[in-house]
Amino acid sequence: MIAAAGSGQRLGAGGPKAFVPLAGRAMVEWSIAAFRAAPSVRSIVVACPPGHVHDLAGGDLGVVDGGATRAESISNALATVGTELVAIHDAARPLVTPDLIEEVVATLVADPDAAGAIAATSVADTIKQLAPGTKPPFSMPHMKNGGFVIELTLDRERLWAAQTPQVFRVEALREALMADPERLGAATDEAMMVEAAGGRVLIRPSPPENLKVTTPLDLKLAELLLAERAAGA
Ligand code: C5P
Repeated sequence: MIAAAGSGQRLGAGGPKAFVPLAGRAMVEWSIAAFRAAPSVRSIVVACPPGHVHDLAGGDLGVVDGGATRAESISNALATVGTELVAIHDAARPLVTPDLIEEVVATLVADPDAAGAIAATSVADTIKQLAPGTKPPFSMPHMKNGGFVIELTLDRERLWAAQTPQVFRVEALREALMADPERLGAATDEAMMVEAAGGRVLIRPSPPENLKVTTPLDLKLAELLLAERAAGA
């Protein structure tokens, strides 16, 4: 299931992020190509933003309307799934590879007690936590001399940045998505819902190249990396 229904506000491209041109294709097409080439993938369904369903409909793809929240988009897509395992992937991670998809699937398959397995990278920066309720704006061009007070420094050795693909046993994901709507609406990945429902979720270390395109800088970097890949570097 490819989540492609976000607005892409932070990218500022004037339209949904998944359909922004990237190295010659709409961004979401890179993820679709990787999933088509992954041997364990049986079918692909994309949650699309309003007005874009017809851009992808037809052929081997399932296409559903996205929802107002990520969890709604995922629930719409999940309603069409009939397999035992399901992989969720963000269209905003166009550098995903068939190998990474297979590795995350294999990690889950190897542990019968696990409910899910996710791609993640270890954290390179030292991470500071602010007091609850402090929400820095995404960009702070007008912040001159102010600063935010640090509440604590987290133990970097134990921190991992979650990515996608995230692969789950379908039953565990369905159960997790029955949580109350407020918590679901605030969820930034599916693993946190499965964890909260008591599921054991494994991390499969993945390369940092599997980056998430959020800002124009990320878009430039993704463009460079994909061009390099196309040139066989
Ligand atoms: O906003 P963010 O970049 O965290 O979104 C992650 C992924 O979730 C993106 O690929 C986006 O298209 C998808 N999404 C969605 N439906 C929403 C919001 C986000 O499919 N309502």
